[in-house]
Amino acid sequence: QRADVALLAASDSGGGRVASYHQVLDQQSLRRLQLGTELELAMADGQISVVFQPIIDARTSDIVSVETLVRWAHPRFGAIPPDDFIHLAEQIGRIGLLTDRVLDLALARCRRWLDQDIALSVAVNLSARCLTEPDLVDRMQRALRRHGVPGELLILELTEGSVVDDSVRSSNVLAELHALGLRLSMDDFGTGYSSLSQLRQLPIDEVKIDKSFVLGMSTSQGESFIARSIIELAHNLGLRVVAEGVEDELTRKLLTEMGCDKLQGFLVSRPLPDERLESWLLARTG
Ligand code: C2E
Ligand code: CA
Ligand code: CA
Ligand code: CA
Repeated sequence: QRADVALLAASDSGGGRVASYHQVLDQQSLRRLQLGTELELAMADGQISVVFQPIIDARTSDIVSVETLVRWAHPRFGAIPPDDFIHLAEQIGRIGLLTDRVLDLALARCRRWLDQDIALSVAVNLSARCLTEPDLVDRMQRALRRHGVPGELLILELTEGSVVDDSVRSSNVLAELHALGLRLSMDDFGTGYSSLSQLRQLPIDEVKIDKSFVLGMSTSQGESFIARSIIELAHNLGLRVVAEGVEDELTRKLLTEMGCDKLQGFLVSRPLPDERLESWLLARTG
């Protein structure tokens, strides 16, 4: 009750809904705890859903995979962006549960495609914390088996931070995941520090150029140079390259000329709920 009063005060102080829960999250650990409990309830209550963003082959424009992005429709705060509640889920030790939920929805989607003879890969994001969970590989394996999806159709996107912390342990876990046939993608590439040596040491298949570089490409030569360098470096190491955050035709053209393998961004499609993805696919493939 008290937390609700604080919340109301915060929203009345201007700045709208987004500012109100930000303020509350930053200022009140009590509220944080409560939101943590709400997150658990939300998972049971269907407030957690996912959207899918298509990823296309840069040369053929064929759709090759979809990235699964989590969404929380909070009954009072509205849509809470993942950049906020992923962190919360990590803090309260629920990121594993959340990841399992997202994985479940992703594999269910993939299964329905398989039933229609469509072999499209799905990508799921994996937080730093997940790599330290001792049963991660086991849970992944069981989820794949439960849905009858071959490991080859699942891509795990690792944020760079995921593997910096404990690289020996991470590399063992990643090797086990790789052995299940999963593909591993280094997310947000270019934003960390020790990423170069990791590319050689870890069983990574692909890098995703962080959208902060891609977004500036059409207006800044510096950004284009970074993208070009990442593509060259990755290709020299035998890795595929995905660019995320492709918003305009010029950027798409530049990346394709640079040999970037796959493209993702609002130019191709925004992240879509399940039903809209189906009609998007139909419209595209005819
Ligand atoms: P990310 O993995 O880098 O995901 C890409 C983000 O860029 C998504 O934001 C997506 O909606 C947005 N995006 C896609 N195309 C464009 C574009 O053309 N322009 C711009 N400006 N943005 C674009 P979203 O969905 O808000 O997700 C934010 C972050 O939250 C993700 O960044 C990822 O790190 C994290 N996240 C999302 N879902 C999950 C999840 O299930 N588990 C974990 N651990 N993290 C997740
Ligand atoms: Ca990602
Ligand atoms: Ca990213
Ligand atoms: Ca990100």
